[in-house]
Amino acid sequence: METVLSISNLTKHFGRIKAVNNLNLEVKAGQVFGMLGPNGSGKTTTLGMLMSVVNPTSGTYSWFGETPSHHVRKKIGAVLEHPIFYPYLNGQKNLELNCMIKQCDPASIPRVLELVELTERRNDKYRTYSLGMKQRLAIASALLNDPTVLILDEPTNGLDPMGIAEIRELIRKIAVQGKTIILASHLLDEVQKVCTHFAVLKKGSLIHTGPVDEVGKGTDTVEVNADVS
Ligand code: ATP
Repeated sequence: METVLSISNLTKHFGRIKAVNNLNLEVKAGQVFGMLGPNGSGKTTTLGMLMSVVNPTSGTYSWFGETPSHHVRKKIGAVLEHPIFYPYLNGQKNLELNCMIKQCDPASIPRVLELVELTERRNDKYRTYSLGMKQRLAIASALLNDPTVLILDEPTNGLDPMGIAEIRELIRKIAVQGKTIILASHLLDEVQKVCTHFAVLKKGSLIHTGPVDEVGKGTDTVEVNADVS
């Protein structure tokens, strides 16, 4: 399997706060890779560095064996915590705007709307969408230019059980299409249900990495909500 992401001794300190400490990880093509850890364990900071929006204190990472560059970043779609959409525009128009910003082909809009099951609601204003629909639209936007990798930060945060199940099902569907997915979560059961591999972060340090057991994957019938703390 091709190595998609390689992280070597990645470290980020904010003053005296050691947000991420000497992180070493590899993510291979086709994996759904969970970054599991409680609040404050360094997940978002790590994703920020991988998206080049946070400067590492030290250490390196490479995507597809290359140092980060504009060309490489085009292969990565991300839904970080607060996506920006216009409440008084409909879903379709919001995607058209995102498409202009990303300079992607508008022909991809029907494809992503269909994938996230928002085709029928595309003419409704964004402000009328449920939280789950908003999150699905954010995922659709991240997929507009058909990236190889999709990064999701706490994608089910704040959603009701139905919304959570829909997002998890969507993640599985996207994975089946062959995309590599990197997912930050504080929920053990989420990682068990959707991920193939995972890393556990605690206070900025890696304490475990490996494959996820098959047990419990692909079903949302058992909700254990076992937070790692
Ligand atoms: P959460 O789910 O709460 O976002 P997380 O696992 O994603 O948690 P981070 O947000 O990466 O964790 O935070 C790791 C640590 O770094 C925390 O102690 C946080 O307060 C601190 N931190 C993050 N960003 C900054 C910043 N810009 N300035 C100062 N400290 C920060």
